[in-house]
Amino acid sequence: MSLEGWTAEALLARTVEEGDCLLWKGSMASTNIPTVCVEADARRSVRRLLWQLLNGPIPANRFASCSCGEPRCVAPEHLVLMTKRQIAKRTAKTGVINNHVRVAKIAATKRAASPITWDDVARIRSAPRGQGLAIAKELGVSQMTVWRIRHHKSWRQPPSGFSVFSLGA
Ligand SMILES: [Zn+2]
Repeated sequence: MSLEGWTAEALLARTVEEGDCLLWKGSMASTNIPTVCVEADARRSVRRLLWQLLNGPIPANRFASCSCGEPRCVAPEHLVLMTKRQIAKRTAKTGVINNHVRVAKIAATKRAASPITWDDVARIRSAPRGQGLAIAKELGVSQMTVWRIRHHKSWRQPPSGFSVFSLGA
């Protein structure tokens, strides 16, 4: 069966597996709607096309979304029909997640530009009180930087945790 020139097989061939999800490799509308070209200048939601190809017509006022919340996922098992209201709720949640990713990325960029390493961070945090100035001088950073690290105001998460966040981008 084909719809607007596409079959489910052809659409799914343009995805890559990640866990239970099938992530769309093609273009996106906004941040979380995988899309595909059906004519020279028309685009359709991949989830909507797939749902129709696999499950039949979509009732009025229902939209194809993904139960996993992964922005690029079009896995048939994750496709769900939602109302506009449900999608708005989902988008609001996703926005929060995206913001966390953004903040984590900014923090990582700052860390990358800093002369300090995670080893230094461990040293700063395990150093006896009153050593802040000495350590700051030795590392060539300000006392405030050392204070912030010691009190977990910066360098909050270990680098291994970051890859989890960066996957969402
Ligand atoms: Zn999924």
